[in-house]
Amino acid sequence: MRDLPLPPAPIALLAELTHRCPLSCPYCSNPLEMVAREGELDTATWARVFAEAADLGVLQLHLSGGEPVARRDLPELVEAARQAGLYVNLITSGIGLTEARLDALEAAGLDHVQLSLQGVRSGIADRIGGYKSGFDRKLEVAKSITARGLPLTLNAVMHRQNLDDLAETISFAVELGARRIEIACVQFYGWALTNRAALLPTREQVEMAKRTVAQAVQTYRGRLAIDFVPPDYYADFPKACMGGWGSTGLNVTPDGTVLPCHAAATIPHLEFQRVTEAPLAEIWQHGPAFQAFRGHDWMQEPCRSCARRDIDHGGCRCQAMALTGDASATDPVCRYSPQRPAVDALLAEIPEAEALPEFTYRR
Ligand code: SF4
Ligand code: SF4
Repeated sequence: MRDLPLPPAPIALLAELTHRCPLSCPYCSNPLEMVAREGELDTATWARVFAEAADLGVLQLHLSGGEPVARRDLPELVEAARQAGLYVNLITSGIGLTEARLDALEAAGLDHVQLSLQGVRSGIADRIGGYKSGFDRKLEVAKSITARGLPLTLNAVMHRQNLDDLAETISFAVELGARRIEIACVQFYGWALTNRAALLPTREQVEMAKRTVAQAVQTYRGRLAIDFVPPDYYADFPKACMGGWGSTGLNVTPDGTVLPCHAAATIPHLEFQRVTEAPLAEIWQHGPAFQAFRGHDWMQEPCRSCARRDIDHGGCRCQAMALTGDASATDPVCRYSPQRPAVDALLAEIPEAEALPEFTYRR
């Protein structure tokens, strides 16, 4: 491979503080093999990582998990990140976010909260999250966040079993006082891949969802920002995953492993480094996992000579791995991919509602 130019600075760091979580969503993006509590980075190491990230040029820090509130040192971590000059966003299910903890996080300088939403009614939300009374608790937390004037985004993860509630989900976000809603259709890696037959929406649902979003954008203009990520499998071309591999952001897992995206560990031949082994800047600029899919040399045909190769960068490497077993292949969602028929076959086999399989919950 030719020497690659140094990449621009990453914009965002996703810090997966822990894999522990009281919920057990069947589409969780955490890996099937999770890091135990004893393997998690300590407070001082995370604080160093945040400082290194800021020095590297990172602007936004997303504190995620698992459930980041499970870390007792969360306020200290927020404070350390703010001292490093980062904008700090907390991505949470809301479980464990008591008034006292919110007080501490606010005092530490938390900038923004993203609250996940499994459904718009307790029955479905608690069934999908695998946690009784989770929905009612989440409502209380949402009210407390907006009452404090903290900006709130709802993260609505949508799929076969809740996509029919999309209009209600959007109006629910308005009622709660959220400023933004991210409507993200499930991406099929890890636990979601295990549960794909139960989660993959129908074509009719996807078409209805697009119309619902278009209408809601008009209705709520100026009141609610709406971001919609439609399901890949129904697209003709893949999305530019992560804006291109190793080009906009990086993930650090609970044990300090640095990944180019949250699913990158599903690519078995990649060599990952930990923040305890090398400085973050070194890993970002020269780490073998980050270099693996930068530039064009790694591409196969038809991507290599395609006019869209700098638009979608050949699509998602993890999706290519999941569907073809070859992380360098053209993303099979692409109409030009020789493996697109495999995606079409999956869409042709979607079960009827009464034949949906049971969820395999994350453990
Ligand atoms: S997707 Fe669900 S189970 Fe996974 S970390 Fe988020 S809330 Fe927890
Ligand atoms: S062939 Fe590759 S670069 Fe061209 S549109 Fe498909 S995925 Fe994108």
